[in-house]
Amino acid sequence: MAIVYGPVSSWRLGRSLGVDPICQRGKICSFDCIYCSLGPTTEKTVERRIFVTEDQVARALRQAIKKVEADVVTFSGTGEPTLAKNLGELIETAREISGLPVAVLTNSSLQSRREVRDDLAKADVVKGKLDVFNDQLFQTINRPHRSLSFQEIVKGLKKFRAGFRGSFQLEVMLVPENLGFSREIAEIVRSIGPDEVQLNTPLRPSPVRPLTPQELERVQSDFEGMKLRSVYLAAKPKVGSMVGKDKVRRLKRPD
Ligand code: SF4
Repeated sequence: MAIVYGPVSSWRLGRSLGVDPICQRGKICSFDCIYCSLGPTTEKTVERRIFVTEDQVARALRQAIKKVEADVVTFSGTGEPTLAKNLGELIETAREISGLPVAVLTNSSLQSRREVRDDLAKADVVKGKLDVFNDQLFQTINRPHRSLSFQEIVKGLKKFRAGFRGSFQLEVMLVPENLGFSREIAEIVRSIGPDEVQLNTPLRPSPVRPLTPQELERVQSDFEGMKLRSVYLAAKPKVGSMVGKDKVRRLKRPD
């Protein structure tokens, strides 16, 4: 199974060469979001462990960059990247081998842990996720591991924001189930203070209906004063040759 795939055209990051630090057949994640394009979570866990080694990532990246051009290396893939216990080392390896900035897409679930914040701090760009404003909606939309608390995650995000020197972005995935709470969600996002907020809705195959452009546009005023990007309005760069095409097809999530 490909550890490195793409580059794919990302509305947030440009030509993004993916690294999957989990790289398993099923989906290993601390959440089981109702809109997830990867299907049901096969292992819901908060236990960090090593799935792929630095050597494996270094080898795969060396081969990939001989064949493709990219703007950024992005840690994402078949689950939650912060579950990789060696994420910090993998980020450093990826930057050294590729000479490119490194981004991590995370669901924010483990940012309450010091060691996870330290690992993420090694990236140039961190894109977290915040789709809800309280525990009840958290259970409905993100269906988290039983040990996770929404309040603790928000505290962790604030601590991370305070110490991170790179670009910190927060994605809000909007679906019919949280559409009526966009104002409350915006207030929490405002209190965290990311550099950029990305309003998204599931445009890839998903069990949940995406919002229409009009619905997403109506929500934007709740986020007034924050730097905002919306999936319907963002331009996507063109990409040339690719590696790991099967993986790109499987993930169905180019960004
Ligand atoms: S956090 Fe991401 S990978 Fe995990 S279930 Fe939610 S959408 Fe899927």
